[in-house]
Amino acid sequence: MSDKDFELFDLRVETIAGPGPMVCNHPVGSYFLVQGENLIFPEPHHFPLYALAAILPLLPAKQRPTDPDDWMSTDAEIACPDPHCGGRFRITRTGKRRFSHAETTGLPDARGTPYWQKDGQSGD
Ligand SMILES: [Zn+2]
Repeated sequence: MSDKDFELFDLRVETIAGPGPMVCNHPVGSYFLVQGENLIFPEPHHFPLYALAAILPLLPAKQRPTDPDDWMSTDAEIACPDPHCGGRFRITRTGKRRFSHAETTGLPDARGTPYWQKDGQSGD
């Protein structure tokens, strides 16, 4: 890895059962993946907006290395924001992915070809 590269964790966010009934459309086992800046939704390609809004602020921190004693390292379950819903969302670090600074930055003086425009890559 060069000094111009960095790594982010890939994440899996999966619905698990909590203490109460599930009232939103996020059945146990439903999930999405986070790879770099991309959210990847497997079939059936939907996830509730309000639950997603509660999870999103935590994902960039979960993608980055954190101190072992930081709660961001140890706590992995997020409660559904609906107070009547028992749904929980478990964030799991599944691996690391390497990125080039020049392929990811927006800084005009440092910007290279974006990673999603490289051969064999797709921004789809
Ligand atoms: Zn819910």
